[in-house]
Amino acid sequence: MISIITSACSLGEFQVFNFITMLAQSLSAEHSEVTDAKFSNLKTFVYSFKDGDPSNKQLLGGKGANLCAMTRMGINVPPGFVITTEACLSFLADPGRQLPEGLMDQVRAKIFELEQSTGKRFGDPNHPLLVSVRSGSALSMPGMMDTILNLGLSELTLKGLISQTSNERFAYDAFRRLVQLFGKIALNISDEKFDRAMELGLLKASVKSETLLTTAQLQLLCQDYLRIVQEETGKPFPSNAYEQLEIAIRAVFNSWMGKRAIDYRREFKITPDMANGTAVNVVTMVFGNMGEDSATGVGFTRDPGTGEKVMYGEYLINAQGEDVVAGIRTPRAVSNLETDMPEQFRQLQELNKKLELNFKEVQDYEYTIEKGILYCLQTRNGKMNAAALVRSSVEMVRDGLLTRERALLRIKPEILEQLLHPTIDPSLEVKPIAIGLAASPGAATGKVVFDSNRAEVLNRAGENVILVREETRPEDIHGFFAARGVLTSRGGKTSHAAVVARGMGKPCVAGAGTIRIDIKNKQAFAGEVMVREGDYMTIDGSNGNVYLGSLEMVTPVFSQELKTILQWSDEAAGIKVFANADTPEDAAKAAEYGAMGIGLCRTERMFNASERLPIVVDMILAERVEERTAALSSLHQMQKQDFLEILKSMAPRPVTIRLLDPPIHEFLPSEERLTEEIERLRELSRLIRGVHALYGDALSATDQNRQSVAPFNSEGESKVEAMILKKQKMLRKAHELREINPMLGHRGVRLGITQPEIYEMQISAILEAASECRQKGVEVNPEIMVPQVSLAEELINVKQHADTIAEKLEKETGLKPHYRFGTMIEVVRACLHAGELARIGDFFSFGTNDLTQATFSFSREDAENKFLPAYMNSGILKENPFEILDLTGVGKLMKMAVEDGKAANPDLKIGICGEHGGQPRAIAFCYQLGLDYVSCSSPRVPVARLAAAHAAFGKKAQAAL
Ligand code: PEP
Ligand code: MG
Repeated sequence: MISIITSACSLGEFQVFNFITMLAQSLSAEHSEVTDAKFSNLKTFVYSFKDGDPSNKQLLGGKGANLCAMTRMGINVPPGFVITTEACLSFLADPGRQLPEGLMDQVRAKIFELEQSTGKRFGDPNHPLLVSVRSGSALSMPGMMDTILNLGLSELTLKGLISQTSNERFAYDAFRRLVQLFGKIALNISDEKFDRAMELGLLKASVKSETLLTTAQLQLLCQDYLRIVQEETGKPFPSNAYEQLEIAIRAVFNSWMGKRAIDYRREFKITPDMANGTAVNVVTMVFGNMGEDSATGVGFTRDPGTGEKVMYGEYLINAQGEDVVAGIRTPRAVSNLETDMPEQFRQLQELNKKLELNFKEVQDYEYTIEKGILYCLQTRNGKMNAAALVRSSVEMVRDGLLTRERALLRIKPEILEQLLHPTIDPSLEVKPIAIGLAASPGAATGKVVFDSNRAEVLNRAGENVILVREETRPEDIHGFFAARGVLTSRGGKTSHAAVVARGMGKPCVAGAGTIRIDIKNKQAFAGEVMVREGDYMTIDGSNGNVYLGSLEMVTPVFSQELKTILQWSDEAAGIKVFANADTPEDAAKAAEYGAMGIGLCRTERMFNASERLPIVVDMILAERVEERTAALSSLHQMQKQDFLEILKSMAPRPVTIRLLDPPIHEFLPSEERLTEEIERLRELSRLIRGVHALYGDALSATDQNRQSVAPFNSEGESKVEAMILKKQKMLRKAHELREINPMLGHRGVRLGITQPEIYEMQISAILEAASECRQKGVEVNPEIMVPQVSLAEELINVKQHADTIAEKLEKETGLKPHYRFGTMIEVVRACLHAGELARIGDFFSFGTNDLTQATFSFSREDAENKFLPAYMNSGILKENPFEILDLTGVGKLMKMAVEDGKAANPDLKIGICGEHGGQPRAIAFCYQLGLDYVSCSSPRVPVARLAAAHAAFGKKAQAAL
């Protein structure tokens, strides 16, 4: 008590309120019942780092919780406290945006604690305590919300900082940083105003960087900045430390509802149950710009680009943290710290180890060395690309840091798609026009754009773009979303551009310093080479190379670590992953990706090859039985060959071959096109007749000119006439087959029943191919699947044909054909009568594309570009049901069909082959329903394999993470 009164004597008038608070705190310690009475009804909104519960990220935010954790672990964290997300939510919920009652009292009490532990005073002109005010929600959203440094400095306290540090230059530098950050974030003053003042200051001083400004020059700059605040707000910069703090807390709270943060949450689907509101961390300032024995840096416990177990990061001597992140000065790789500051390097290595051991995750941390003392300012789970995640997962299991389950759960299945991104064809011999830092791996090619808005516009128009900037800022986020890749001429591997691109899995080359960018004229120069907006450029974020033009790409091969992860996944999974593959090449690819079978082979795709389509057309147009049989027999041979190759490449895994599904008019050109073609042919015929009339027999007089004039003689004329006749026939057929609702028309099993010879041809091609394989000792497992079934009688009809064909083949070969017979479940009635269908077939496969269409009565062809966007924007639908399985509608029908089907036929095999089969949430649902497999496109197979393991670990395991 006495000490407080003594120190109060040195306070200025503006500190009277602070003093009263201190007095109240002191009294409260001595007379706790007084405090109890005052605060008993109030919620705790503020926790010291030493008191906060590190496991409560929802309340304290990720940053705050981790600061509490590090404090408990004995890591040197500057003292501070966290204001909870609850306080933020209560502030945002209040129409008048009032801070919750009692909040500032609690803040004052915590500031008092900081004063006690640092021996400094908040707002004290002689010994000022300075703090940073940092945002931090439950989920890390890098750069999306605001942070203010050096708070507590003012014209009044500046002198105190100068005498405390004996470093006048440093103090002015700290002050101008505060005025700018506070001005921008808390007072909404455009950054440009300060940037322009800085540019002028540098120009006047004839220096290139602010680090070269003298004390006097910085002093002038501070005055310029203060003047900007006065001009822009009509008020002087607040000199009262508590006033600054309160404004800053409000600004950070408000930044949760800022456009950047909202866009980010929408893009990354961050819902309130994942992160709701931001906490505010108030941390005692430590300075990395106090001379050559001070530094600031960012680090990763492993290389975030490759996952390699090496200390990774960058630092700047005599600088503040924002200098590293903003990319204003190009930082040094952390390995150099060993020579620059050997003792601190050793401490950093220890910090690295401690962090990983405690958090059991790769950490991305910030540190400051102030006059030789290392402080850790924050840590969070490192955002890594897929390759790094995969490698570090495998290695962390080997290091004993993680169980296999945790190692698999830390990889989001969708991220594996990044590993299948193309890289530049290595056989190309092209010289880069510039080389920067390999900041986020993968290659990308596209048109150059120099600003984020333009990137967005071109992307919307369907163009691939490369965003080229000197450096990026958080407000460029939409440019990142729109671009294929990002190139910057300034900044390091941990600059904003690098961190954001890595998080998104987009290629990035950073700090390509030899590129000069002229934003105004939308051009850049790499030495002699000029690049204009719209020119093609290719960047390789794996080695930092920048090329002019659009280069050829190749698909990468699987790494050993990825194979390990997928093998662990298969061992843990309780549901198999098949692929949808229509051709022998697709099947080979599916096998490479680890598909355990083919869940859907759409045979119509085989009909569409250019050499086959004319035969299909002949089959459709055939009027006589012989014509039809001839066409079918050619198709039979072709299909049999395809089935042979697919069955062999997947042997002994099952191959589910679906009989023809679309209506046959889809194999004919449209009536409009046929009419146009006929008209053109008629013109040609008239031309020939005209030429013939003019030159007559002279055209065919000699053998020599016969060739060149052939089109114009009577022979040519009759050929054209024959073509006209054929097209007219096609037109009549197309007209005859025309349907108002082809999706609900003469297709699938309906076609199979009315024109049985098509299905008979396909079934015998499948069974013959399988029989030939078996005769050669290759064990194959074909499964014949019937589409669009709604009635048990339909399935019985096709099954009878299949049985007859199988019996005939058995007689011919002496070998009993082995095959399964089953149905797609893609019609609502099939779900309602699943029991009957299960008694006929051996398996079901959910066609959730058609089932979604049927359940909603939303056309698969039109809904997505007609009304679905409006439905989603207005919140009527949260997700596109053709992308994300509608669990409560389509899923409910599936559940009913599974239960009915299994009750009727306990051996029934059930899978899914609609697009949803590769979607992790749908996979988890199918696993819960007890399905045997999911089937998806080949590149999605690795994603689905990992998702299948996640599904088996279940919600419980995920919640434990
Ligand atoms: C389906 O309907 O889900 C399906 C797989 O078949 P298709 O997409 O070929 O109609
Ligand atoms: Mg279908």
